[in-house]
Amino acid sequence: MERKLIIAANWKMNKGPAETVEFLEAFLPGVDAVTDRCDVVVAPPSVSLAAAGALLADSVVALSAQNCSQFDEGAFTGEVSTSMLNELGTQYVILGHSERRSIFGEEDAVINAKVRKALAADLKPIFCIGETIEEREGGRLEDVLRTQVRDGLAELSAQDMNDTVVAYEPVWAIGTGVTASPEQAQEAHAFVRSLLADLFGAEVAAQVRIQYGGSVKPGNSAELMGQPDIDGALVGGASLEPDSFRALIDNAFA
Ligand code: PEP
Repeated sequence: MERKLIIAANWKMNKGPAETVEFLEAFLPGVDAVTDRCDVVVAPPSVSLAAAGALLADSVVALSAQNCSQFDEGAFTGEVSTSMLNELGTQYVILGHSERRSIFGEEDAVINAKVRKALAADLKPIFCIGETIEEREGGRLEDVLRTQVRDGLAELSAQDMNDTVVAYEPVWAIGTGVTASPEQAQEAHAFVRSLLADLFGAEVAAQVRIQYGGSVKPGNSAELMGQPDIDGALVGGASLEPDSFRALIDNAFA
């Protein structure tokens, strides 16, 4: 099954509106040369979505949020709803990132509520999963991924899965400079795809795009993206400079 690559920039808490515009003005020219082979997504912080949305309105680059509320509206101080994201032209939303899980205490049930809320609002979830080093070394990799996939994607339909991207991000590789080897990543991706097949059927599993995340750089994107079950990347550090993000994308086809 042919799956188009999808490479997404997760800027985390970096780049206000001015820096977002500066990045996009440098990054956008010429990017259409790659978008027939690769979907390109940028996820600025919430306060920069409007500035990015204005520049990306007619662009081949898609806009993503980094989080959304599981509620519609009301007394939820500090939260951002899916309808607010819709209004800004947002197409994707990153959910279940390990920083949301570990720093902000988001558990599988909350992440699942957010995934379902996003899909109901026509936002495509980039649903993140991944194990800590203790879990991997303790032989619990498969159990952890099984629970995250089963509980985080509970009650989704096959159609919902067509609109969902999964990001496998081993926590020990995020922001550490340590990358999973292509073999380690491929093995985990194949396992995640088998979990999706158990839950949604082989046909659905074969078309779900599974990104790898964890210290992807221009120097390792080719080898990682060359693995059969790796369909793109979720990129933190190396997405902060236009040249580095562009080189990482270009090299993914090398
Ligand atoms: C991420 O934030 O999802 C990530 C993978 O970060 P980095 O590329 O910096 O490891």
